[in-house]
Amino acid sequence: MKLAVTTEHRVGVVEGDRFFDVTEAVPGSGPAWPPMYMNRLIDQWAALGPRVAAARKAAAPVPLASLKLLPPNPCPVHVIAAPANYRKHIGEIGARSVSKGRSAEQQGFFMKATASLVGAGGAIELPRGSTRRFDHESELAVIIGRRARNVPRAEAMGYVFGYSCLMDITMRIEPGVAEEERVTRKSFETFTPLGPWIVTADEIADPHALRNQLWVNGVAKQDANTRDMIVDIPALIELISSVMTLNPGDVIASGTPEGVGPIVPGDKVTIGIESVGEMTLQVVEAAQFAPRRF
Ligand code: MN
Repeated sequence: MKLAVTTEHRVGVVEGDRFFDVTEAVPGSGPAWPPMYMNRLIDQWAALGPRVAAARKAAAPVPLASLKLLPPNPCPVHVIAAPANYRKHIGEIGARSVSKGRSAEQQGFFMKATASLVGAGGAIELPRGSTRRFDHESELAVIIGRRARNVPRAEAMGYVFGYSCLMDITMRIEPGVAEEERVTRKSFETFTPLGPWIVTADEIADPHALRNQLWVNGVAKQDANTRDMIVDIPALIELISSVMTLNPGDVIASGTPEGVGPIVPGDKVTIGIESVGEMTLQVVEAAQFAPRRF
């Protein structure tokens, strides 16, 4: 099943180019802040999944193209990310890397602000007036299904609810000039496009055999396969749950393969992950200058 959320906070099942509104089966849905209803839906999926399926049967299809999408989970408790998790990516950004040749195996994970999420219906907004370099990173997102604490890797896949496409947009450091913390550089509003939907895990036979592609203005920039992850999905869940509790609806960005590169206002960025989905976002300059310039 593919689950999507519209900018009106309607929850739907997506089939092909059609959206079936199932909001009535989602307790607490709606725009009231904080919009945590997808976390609860995922947490209670055993009971609510059949209700969602029944609502899908009763719903009339709406063309997906007529809707604007939010992130398929608008407010996860955590957005966690793996640094340097593909061998060929390590070293490709040279002195602008803070990984210093170390992989996710040695570095562990970092956090992105939940506030940086944006859906397929949004745009990537770069800070107005900035001369810094901003890069695209194409990543498979893992959506957690059950509360997870100290989960060994052998059991970890049982904690996965589904998958989505994620761009980890990043402001690069300027060595010796500007070397902000990773969380600052990756947490600008709209720097984590997520979507267009969540595909439930039962539809993905092997998440470690998915082609992961990204294009800028239709030109292929990244083309890799999730089989080349250094720390695979169960090992990521083991690692993160050894430090903190993962919650239903939490998002893990599993790391980018090689081919990262700059984006500028006017660009159109497309991510496509095999069997998961595809979405295109426009890159724009933020409408307002921030009081603190970057
Ligand atoms: Mn990344």
